[in-house]
Amino acid sequence: MANINKTSGKVLTAQVAGAGFAGLTAAIALRQNGWDVTLHEKDSELRAFGAGIYLWHNGLRVLEGVDALNDVLEGTHTPPAYETWMQNKSVSKETFNGLPWRIMTRSHLHNALVKRAHEVGVNVCVNSEAVAADAEGRLTLASGEVLEADLIVGADGVGSKVRDSMGFKQDRWVSTDGIIRLIVPRLKDQLGEGEWDNTIDMWNFEPRVQRILYSPCNDKELYLGLMAPAADPRGSRVPLDLEVWVEMFPFLEPCLAEAAKLEKARYDNYATTKLDTWVKGKVALVGDSAHAMCPALAQGAGCAMVNAFSLSQDLSEHSSVEDGLTSWEQRMRPMTDRCQALSGDYAANRALSKGNMFTNAALEAARYDPLRRVFSWPQQ
Ligand SMILES: Cc1cc2nc3c(=O)[nH]c(=O)nc-3n(C[C@H](O)[C@H](O)[C@H](O)COP(=O)(O)OP(=O)(O)OC[C@H]3O[C@@H](n4cnc5c(N)ncnc54)[C@H](O)[C@@H]3O)c2cc1C
Repeated sequence: MANINKTSGKVLTAQVAGAGFAGLTAAIALRQNGWDVTLHEKDSELRAFGAGIYLWHNGLRVLEGVDALNDVLEGTHTPPAYETWMQNKSVSKETFNGLPWRIMTRSHLHNALVKRAHEVGVNVCVNSEAVAADAEGRLTLASGEVLEADLIVGADGVGSKVRDSMGFKQDRWVSTDGIIRLIVPRLKDQLGEGEWDNTIDMWNFEPRVQRILYSPCNDKELYLGLMAPAADPRGSRVPLDLEVWVEMFPFLEPCLAEAAKLEKARYDNYATTKLDTWVKGKVALVGDSAHAMCPALAQGAGCAMVNAFSLSQDLSEHSSVEDGLTSWEQRMRPMTDRCQALSGDYAANRALSKGNMFTNAALEAARYDPLRRVFSWPQQ
């Protein structure tokens, strides 16, 4: 059913900048609530960046809410345990008290959301870069076109032009560690004995700081996150410096050899962005444009999707867009801020290396159910 602007009597319109996980989720959820939605992607095609991704109960519930869950579940994996190793010895195995979680390739998740956006009738424009917005509800494109809407959503990622054009006050910092992320063939049979269906978070502090997050996505694909300090020229080198990684993790040599063949690999630092507010007038920022966070808790996309989905809930409960956005930020921000802060702490202190670090506080965002708006799942 169409959602009508009470003053003009017309269907409510939204212009969404950025077709990542946040923008796609916001666009689908608004469209499902009867909005007329246009989604702008600056690239020439809709595609995911990066390698693999962990989605937890909160993100999976969003997928249920936008009717994309079944497509996503097929071809993804829930490991029997999240295992932590220190110097190649197991220190803990966590199962999160049965809390649902999944690992998948980013393209798998992105494709499912793109498919759903088309199904519900989101108007998708590629080669359409947003360069500015204003609080009265105008979005300016690189082409010079100015579009008016009841709502503007800035989902244009960590380098958001929507945000930067509007003078949001921000703190931004980059951590000392970074990561090379890759998808390689599983090659489970070539790895010798071991519980290779688990996630294995392999930390080594001697003789150098190097970590591999070993994450099976399905029977065929393995997501490898190879972490090293930015100051380490060999650990941060791309394409991969095979010798330096095999020396530390010899049992993974078959997978690392595949990883070293990937020319397009990138080394990324972890970025954090904290804003004074996510909302100005008719403009809302969602996802990394509002709250980029360190990946220690693997919640950046989860929080982005929850907040993008929740936006349409608050808007449907208020007669003015401005009031809906204010209520949305008040509702969603505290949990997001706590998750961002703890994730930043964990990354700065390399806390996950201790094992058993997915405490109740660390799983708070994961336990949130955006459909019922409660924290489900018993505490540990
Ligand atoms: C190493 C690492 C590991 C991570 N692992 C996880 C994990 O396991 N689980 C998890 O939940 N999160 C994880 N995250 C976080 C997650 O990747 C991000 O939080 C999430 O992808 C943000 O989505 P987004 O849609 O806000 O932004 P983006 O993914 O950056 O999407 C922005 C989109 O907007 C487009 N765009 C940019 N500028 C413009 C413009 N001006 N006009 C129009 N379009 C534009 C871009 O091309 C892109 O398509 C990880 C992050 C890192 C760095």
